Amino acid sequence: MSLIEFRDVSERYIKGSTPAIDNVSFEIDNGEFVFITGDSGSGKSTIIKLLLRELVPTKGTITVAGMDLGKMKHRKIPMYRRKVGVVFQEFRLLEDRNIYDNVAFAQRVTEVKPKIIKKKVPAALSLVGLAQKYKSYPNELSGGEQQRVAIARALINEPALLLADEPTGNLDPSNSWEIMHLLEEANERGTTVVVVTHNQEIVNEMHKRVITLNKGVIVSDVKGGEYL
Ligand code: ADP
Ligand code: MG
Repeated sequence: MSLIEFRDVSERYIKGSTPAIDNVSFEIDNGEFVFITGDSGSGKSTIIKLLLRELVPTKGTITVAGMDLGKMKHRKIPMYRRKVGVVFQEFRLLEDRNIYDNVAFAQRVTEVKPKIIKKKVPAALSLVGLAQKYKSYPNELSGGEQQRVAIARALINEPALLLADEPTGNLDPSNSWEIMHLLEEANERGTTVVVVTHNQEIVNEMHKRVITLNKGVIVSDVKGGEYL
C-alpha cells in the first residue's frame, strides 16, 4: 500500500507566477527509500514542505498514510508532524541545550512519561553512535556529529516516515556516507525514507529509487537509478 500519494499536485507561491511544482504525481510505498534530485529551484524542498504540511497544495491532493493533508484540521497538524521525522541541511539543533535534551525535547512535547524518555533517549543516541556525548552541546560537536544528533531526534518517535532535505549538504564525503548509512539502517528497520540530495556520488552508489525534478516537473522516476 502506498504511504505517500501526490496526485496532480501544483504549488504556486505567488498568484500568477510559474508554479514551484507543476502537476506532479507519484506514489511512495511503505518501506521504500527514495532520492529526490534536481537542480536548485526545481521544487525539491517544496515537496518536503508539502509533506510536512507547512504548505497546502494550490491544486491536487496529497495523502500520507491515508490522510488527505489538504483537508487536515489545523488542530491535528502538530500531531501529524510529530509522526514524521525530519532532518535538514543545517541540523537545526537547540544551541543552548545539550545533546540529551535536544533529543529528549521531541519527546517532552508529546507528553511521554519521563521514565520512558530516560530509556529512549540513550537508545536513540546509541543508534547514531553518540551515547557517550550526551552531555555535550551542539557547538562542541563536529558537523557530522550534529547531523547524527538530528537523526536521533528525528527517529525518537519511531516515525513511519523520515524526510531529509539535503542532509549532507554541509558535510564532507566521509561524514556524508555515515549519515546515508544511518538513513539506510532506519529504512531497514521499516521506516520509509525520502532524501532530497545533490550528492551525485551517493545517489549513484546506493542504487535506490531516484525521482528527478526539473523546473517543477518530474522528468524521471527510476528504481535503482542514477543521478541525471
Ligand atoms: P529546490 O529545493 O529544488 O531548490 P524549492 O522547492 O525551494 O527548490 O523552490 C522551487 C521554486 O519555488 C523556486 O523557483 C523558488 O524560487 C520558489 N520558491 C520557493 N520558496 C518560495 C517562497 N516562499 N516564495 C516564493 N517562491 C518560492
Ligand atoms: Mg531546497
